[in-house]
Amino acid sequence: MNTQLISNVISLEKTVQARTADKSDMLPLIALSHEELRQLLTTQLQTSLDITTILGLFFKSSQRLVKYSSLSFQHAAHAIKVELGSTEEHSVNYNLNYYGDSLGNIVFTRANRFSEQELGDFESIISSLIFPLRNGLLYAAALQNALKDPLTGIGNRISMQQTLQRDIDTAQRHEQALSVLMIDIDYFKRINDTYGHSVGDAVLVEVAQHIQKQLRTTDALFRYGGEEFLAVLPNTCSQHASLVAERLRESLEALEISIEGHTIKVTSSTGCATLRADDSQHSLLQRSDVALYAAKHNGRNQVQLAL
Ligand code: GH3
Ligand code: MG
Ligand code: MG
Repeated sequence: MNTQLISNVISLEKTVQARTADKSDMLPLIALSHEELRQLLTTQLQTSLDITTILGLFFKSSQRLVKYSSLSFQHAAHAIKVELGSTEEHSVNYNLNYYGDSLGNIVFTRANRFSEQELGDFESIISSLIFPLRNGLLYAAALQNALKDPLTGIGNRISMQQTLQRDIDTAQRHEQALSVLMIDIDYFKRINDTYGHSVGDAVLVEVAQHIQKQLRTTDALFRYGGEEFLAVLPNTCSQHASLVAERLRESLEALEISIEGHTIKVTSSTGCATLRADDSQHSLLQRSDVALYAAKHNGRNQVQLAL
């Protein structure tokens, strides 16, 4: 592995190791000099903030200088992975950094070994990726944050609407079950009134984390409103969903939340609804809300199934 510095702030860490791209990407392209290609890339790559689009443009245009079969990009912290072309035996690997911040790892492969001249070619053009990638990562993070509830870190209502719609479409297309649990903390106002709003906030964080831990990785939890959460359970029939809901209710009842020297206990009420063939997102949520209301009306600390 060798580390090469391009200017003071951008560093490329390269590892060389030892199939083919989509046919349309392999059409003969007019070869360009380093300088011409750098100019082309600079213009092209600033046309998008989408990481996949940026890398797709780079993948295609950089072939004018050096031929390779695949490009794969990974940024673990941003959970981004892009694979273009098909992987071959020989590879060259770059860790991209900007002012010490990781911009991800990029690997190029092909069937025959890269020459020193070609490695130099890569290094001369790869810096054109730095600013577009950095902007793309900032944009991806902004999009990600727009879907998160800032207090609890779980998905917010916008994120819930998107995920639930996608899960409803999948369930209806494949005739699979889907259930939702609308979980509301009982008498939450009393917690705020007794201990103050900041303790109430901390209770919400603990409750959200506690519910999240109990769910499967395929399930998703969202903050639906103030002290109300929605769990989306794909591939889950009514019978199974009511068992999950009851287990969650019991475990929340048993939870002892320690905050600022207080031990706070909560109970919750849950409305459980299972998708019907003719359901929309709105009607499914409405049925779970009616069931939640029934749970409150019947004395709280219980689960009610929607009709
Ligand atoms: P119920 O058993 O009927 O659900 O009673 P409740 O007191 O939980 O319900 P109500 O709807 O009367 O009050 C909800 C309270 O939740 C009122 C509101 O101030 C509080 N709340 C909503 N969002 C937040 C928040 O982000 N932080 C804190 N600390 N409190 C919140
Ligand atoms: Mg409540
Ligand atoms: Mg409520």
